[in-house]
Amino acid sequence: MKSKIAMANWKMHGDRATWRGLARGIANGTATSGVDVVICPPYPALADVEETLKGTSVSLGAPNVHQFDKGAYTGEVSAPILKEFGCKYVIIGHSERREYFGENNNLDLAEKIRQCIRHDLVPVYCVGETWQQREEGKTFTVLDEQLLDGLNDVYISMPDQLIVAYEPVWAISALIGERKKPTADDLKEVFRYMRQAMIAKYGELGHDIRLIYGGSVGESNVKSFMEVEGLNGVLVGGASLDDKVFSDIVQKISEV
Ligand code: PEP
Repeated sequence: MKSKIAMANWKMHGDRATWRGLARGIANGTATSGVDVVICPPYPALADVEETLKGTSVSLGAPNVHQFDKGAYTGEVSAPILKEFGCKYVIIGHSERREYFGENNNLDLAEKIRQCIRHDLVPVYCVGETWQQREEGKTFTVLDEQLLDGLNDVYISMPDQLIVAYEPVWAISALIGERKKPTADDLKEVFRYMRQAMIAKYGELGHDIRLIYGGSVGESNVKSFMEVEGLNGVLVGGASLDDKVFSDIVQKISEV
């Protein structure tokens, strides 16, 4: 059975004085949850957070990766470097990277995903439509394109080598002016669709690839999201910056 997963995406928040305490708080607050918990801090926090998480059940993830092993790519970080710092997961194609850094060439994203798999890192591939695309009825066309391109030539032999996150751009708290939140009903048809897409591409393995949701997840709505069929966890931005709130979210996930 797929274990549930809760990922904390700290983005560009916090500082050296707070990262360790936050990681420790999350590790303590989620220790007995039975949920796979992952913290994805900013790159410079990896060493401190790795050390803090030693001996706990919480894993470390990275917010991005470059598709090559090494080279003259100023400002980038490679998969071997992430491995050296104890990372197990990598967020790929987050909507903020698509929106602000032009990461829309999905073939590069596919290369990043293949690079993660080559290095035994689990890519968490983010897909999702904008509000305008949704209003124009293009949600499934957009998801189709993003899944087709981003998973181009991506092969797996075990379902836990890949995670796909549905993160509608319109629901990410930092990207929206007026906060819009999807309901569990909105998510039902998307997750049914994504599960079918995984089965179509990966056969039997597709049943067990973890599909997660991200976008304004909090203590009050996480249970209703987790009840959506085919949804196996959440990616949490803003609410992961408070260890008590995030631990409470994890606790609620464990109760579903
Ligand atoms: C995210 O950025 O991955 C995210 C889900 O953010 P938030 O929870 O703040 O909407």
